[in-house]
Amino acid sequence: MHNRFDFPQPDAQGYFGQYGGSFVPPQLQTIIDEITQAYLDIRQDPAFLAELTHLYQHFVGRPSPIFHARNLSAEFGAPIYLKREDLNHTGAHKINHCLGEALLAKKMGKKKVIAETGAGQHGVALATAAALVGLECDIYMGEVDIKKEHPNVVRMGILGARVIPATHGRKTLKEAVDAAFDAYLQDPVTQLYAIGSVVGPHPFPMMVRDFQSIIGMEAREQFQQMTGKLPDNLVACVGGGSNAMGLFSAFLEDTEVKMHGVEPAGRGLAQDGEHAATLTKGEPGIMHGFKSYMLKDAKGEPQEVYSVASGLDYPAVGPQHSYLKDAGRVSYGVVDDKEAIDAFFTLSRMEGIIPAIESAHALAYALKLARQGETGSLLVNLSGRGDKDIDFVVANYGAQYGVASLPK
Ligand SMILES: *Cc1c(COP(=O)(O)O)cnc(C)c1O
Repeated sequence: MHNRFDFPQPDAQGYFGQYGGSFVPPQLQTIIDEITQAYLDIRQDPAFLAELTHLYQHFVGRPSPIFHARNLSAEFGAPIYLKREDLNHTGAHKINHCLGEALLAKKMGKKKVIAETGAGQHGVALATAAALVGLECDIYMGEVDIKKEHPNVVRMGILGARVIPATHGRKTLKEAVDAAFDAYLQDPVTQLYAIGSVVGPHPFPMMVRDFQSIIGMEAREQFQQMTGKLPDNLVACVGGGSNAMGLFSAFLEDTEVKMHGVEPAGRGLAQDGEHAATLTKGEPGIMHGFKSYMLKDAKGEPQEVYSVASGLDYPAVGPQHSYLKDAGRVSYGVVDDKEAIDAFFTLSRMEGIIPAIESAHALAYALKLARQGETGSLLVNLSGRGDKDIDFVVANYGAQYGVASLPK
């Protein structure tokens, strides 16, 4: 049965080993403690679990299939399988936890869910869940991102959400986080801050992981049904780390299954600010209310980060990933912009699937493993579809791959 959240849990303070916890102002801690308690209650509640399962099936379209990519497998010399989160309603894995968070908010009697968004993917998924569940939704977004990500801004508006511009500083994701956080502090009673990945103070890394664990629970069963075995390797991209934790959770005890988290090397690891490879280049510290590996500048502020995949450019990472890295249970590697774009076209042209650029990082790494001689099976989490990326890819890389962009 799905949705029994019986994986290794953090301790009562929300620590996975030395990582996690909650570092927030005392008035906010009181509210967060209420969220923790409400969540611990509902995750035992059969009615809640039944409702979430129903929505996963009939609203999201779960279970998402596993697809044996035969053409890629033949070309690269290893059996390659894709977990098709790109086929979910709204086109990515984020809807899995947004529905959970919206249902929790509703059960707690909140009127509104709020969040920040960078490229707008989390905002759209949350606006979707809020519309369904019957909650108001405020999405904070940098003014620069609002201009850049116009289609997602329009989607949120159509879904009935309010998009509130962050107008200070560089007017991008960092400022949107500040604005959403300020708004939350002003009214933490009627609103729930719906965090967009396995990051932030406890209980969010645990809660978002639990909601995403449906990916791994399905995949474990489906893969065994298809092949009679467990996969030899799991591969997933890591921004905050939610799609990866969702896949990995169900396999943590299967010590024969190797796990690979893939971080964005952007334009290269040599230069600070040109990548977002937190686990590869960062060090433990505290940021955004939790302790984990992170990238900080000389002043100890969150470092500027960059990736061609806007869903991966975050200067920290979920605390459970930090724990799994130190424990040696998951190995973390990198893929740069060029490799990711190449995998984007490879999957499109060899299998007829256009992936999100984020997901293309995971695929690129799997292909790299195969090229380096891996012959065991590779199960890649295809976290999202690439519709959101096609204009950008064609404008910036189309000529190299023989695709003309539309005349302006
Ligand atoms: C947001 C996003 C990611 C990165 O988030 P995680 O929390 O690391 O999973 C990856 N892929 C897609 C398609 C996304 O939209």
